[in-house]
Amino acid sequence: MSFDILKGMATTLKNMGKKPTTISYPEQERQLPPRFRGRHVLHRYDNGLERCVGCYLCAGACPADAIYIEAQENSEENRVSPGERYARVFDVNLLRCIFCGYCQAACPTGAITLEHDYKLASYYPEDLVFHKEQLLEPRGQSSVGSNTVWAESAPPEAAQPVPQEKEVFDGSEASAAAVGLGNLHPERPVLLVDEQQDEDRRKLP
Ligand code: SF4
Ligand code: SF4
Repeated sequence: MSFDILKGMATTLKNMGKKPTTISYPEQERQLPPRFRGRHVLHRYDNGLERCVGCYLCAGACPADAIYIEAQENSEENRVSPGERYARVFDVNLLRCIFCGYCQAACPTGAITLEHDYKLASYYPEDLVFHKEQLLEPRGQSSVGSNTVWAESAPPEAAQPVPQEKEVFDGSEASAAAVGLGNLHPERPVLLVDEQQDEDRRKLP
C-alpha cells in the first residue's frame, strides 16, 4: 500500500467523528454574517418619503452596469422624495450584479442597501430584473437597513490580507493588490476599452 493511500485513509479517520459542516438546506438555514450582501432594498424616511433623490451616483459607481434609473422632478402636488428629484424608475439587474456594495457606499442619502435576501433563483431571466416596486420598503416600515452595520468599524476577521509580493498592506492599492495580484499587468487591453465589447454593450436594450 502506497504512502499516499495511507495518508488519505488517515485523513478520513481523522474526520470521521467530526460534526458535518454541511446543512440540510432548505429545511435548515445558516445564520448569515452581519455584513452579508444580498438583494437590494430601497429605503424610506419615517414620514414615508423615499430616500432616493434620483442622483444616479449608485448607477455611476456600479462596475457591472446593473442599475437603471429614470429620475423625475418632485412637485408640490406630487412629492415623492425630499430632494428636487426622485427615481420614477429604479431597476437593478441581479443577473449583472456582483453584490459588491459600491452602490450602497456611493449613495448620499442611505437610500439603497444590500440586505440578507439571497434566495434569488428563477427559471426566467426577466424575474431577476428587480423594479422599484419590488425593492422599495412598504410605507410604515422604514429602516436604514445594513447601513448601521457598515457604520461600525470592521471586525478584526475582515482585515485585508497581507499581499504576497510586498508582505505589507499599506492601503494604497485596490483589493486585488491585497491578495498579491495588484502588480500583475494584463496581457491584452481590458474589456472596457475593447471596441467590440463597447459596441455589444450599446446594443443591449
Ligand atoms: S452591488 Fe455592485 S454590482 Fe450590484 S448593483 Fe450595486 S454597485 Fe452594481
Ligand atoms: S439610490 Fe442613492 S445614489 Fe442611487 S440614485 Fe438614489 S439617492 Fe442617488
